Amino acid sequence: MQHRIVVLGAGYTGAIAAGRLAKRLRREDVTITLVSAEPDFVERVRMHQLAAGQHLKPRPLSEMFAGTGVELRLAKVTGVDVDRKTVAVIDANGADELTYDTLVYALGSGWNTQGVPGAAEHAYEIAGRPGALRLRQRLARLDAGQTVVVVGGGLTGLEAATEIAEARPDLDVALTARGGLGDWLSPKGREHLWKVFGKLGITVHEHAAVTGVEADRVATADGKGIPAAVTVWTTGFAVHPIAEATALKVTGTGQIVVDGTMRSVSHPDVYAVGDAAMAIGPGDKPLRMSCASGGPAAWQAADAIAARLTGGKLPSTPIRYFNQCVSLGRKEGLIQYVTADDRAVQAVLTGRLAAVYKELVCKGAAWGVANPTLGLPTRRRRVTPDRAATGSAVKAPA
Ligand SMILES: Cc1cc2nc3c(=O)[nH]c(=O)nc-3n(C[C@H](O)[C@H](O)[C@H](O)COP(=O)(O)OP(=O)(O)OC[C@H]3O[C@@H](n4cnc5c(N)ncnc54)[C@H](O)[C@@H]3O)c2cc1C
Repeated sequence: MQHRIVVLGAGYTGAIAAGRLAKRLRREDVTITLVSAEPDFVERVRMHQLAAGQHLKPRPLSEMFAGTGVELRLAKVTGVDVDRKTVAVIDANGADELTYDTLVYALGSGWNTQGVPGAAEHAYEIAGRPGALRLRQRLARLDAGQTVVVVGGGLTGLEAATEIAEARPDLDVALTARGGLGDWLSPKGREHLWKVFGKLGITVHEHAAVTGVEADRVATADGKGIPAAVTVWTTGFAVHPIAEATALKVTGTGQIVVDGTMRSVSHPDVYAVGDAAMAIGPGDKPLRMSCASGGPAAWQAADAIAARLTGGKLPSTPIRYFNQCVSLGRKEGLIQYVTADDRAVQAVLTGRLAAVYKELVCKGAAWGVANPTLGLPTRRRRVTPDRAATGSAVKAPA
């Protein structure tokens, strides 16, 4: 009997995990089903580019997975029952149920309004393709001189504000940050950020707590408010509520708690990767919601599943950070080098070279999805029958 592996979500981490599993396990021994709500692989790291009016290369999943042994199922996941080991899905033909022996949960995340009144009704977001396309249409209708306020001074906010300001120099772009602009960066990194923001004419409101969003302004804690024809909300990501509705152990924010092999600490036949998972990384800190750690986490999960099914060695390479790559429009960028646990060091790369570097990183991330073993030769191993039945026999490293 074949071992049934079901992977939920074909974003960066789910697609990598499915593809890598298919390279590691003998086709006769397993079925690998990748469930995706979208027919294309969405380069989520480019959503600010899409919103700013750029054309993104279509990447149909059917082409990406043709001949790999991964079966693509275009459907929306509506629920998971970890006791019955089933996944409820819905597609054009109606509701259906998939049964798994091993589940990889990689449904990612969406935008996070943080419960701020009016944000859900009036703000635009770029956490996924539908939101980015909606913002793109709205920006196209704006007249010269109108104001766009980007709420959130994190990486996504920096990328969104600069991309919009570069693409639409006729607009009045502003950014609000809860702290100082780029205050986690090195002095050189911050200096460069200010320089680029100045060149692009972006107004920065530092230490501004946004308390509400209205149709034509954002309200701030100091009572002054900022006029905004369009508000773009980028204050972090929130996971989808599906995991929280299961018996899986999740954090207060709904991320699935996993061990060092990305396996659920409560249900050994479930793995979680990417934004949907809470794994402890270097410095005993939770891994940041990012491709930077999500990609290696997906390798880790796939290799651990393969090892457990075939009696191989569990992966033990620790996940670490190297840099934070920030695009600042198409002509400028900032590569902030960091410690293994993601703290800024002095070294930075700036300017056009940094923009080219970041573009290569984005291209590399998409290439890595289509080449989940990074082009290295692999051998598909035989699933040991007793392991196929139990899904596990090897103890996970801490
Ligand atoms: C504008 C922007 C820029 C970013 N830049 C960077 C960056 O430079 N570097 C970096 O490291 N990170 C960056 N990130 C973060 C990064 O994109 C995410 O952390 C990463 O995509 C997480 O990968 P994932 O596989 O967990 O989720 P995703 O890539 O979001 O994939 C989840 C998949 O699940 C699908 N899905 C969701 N719900 C369902 C459902 N119910 N049924 C079926 N399918 C479903 C989605 O359609 C999607 O395909 C950026 C994010 C944004 C929005």
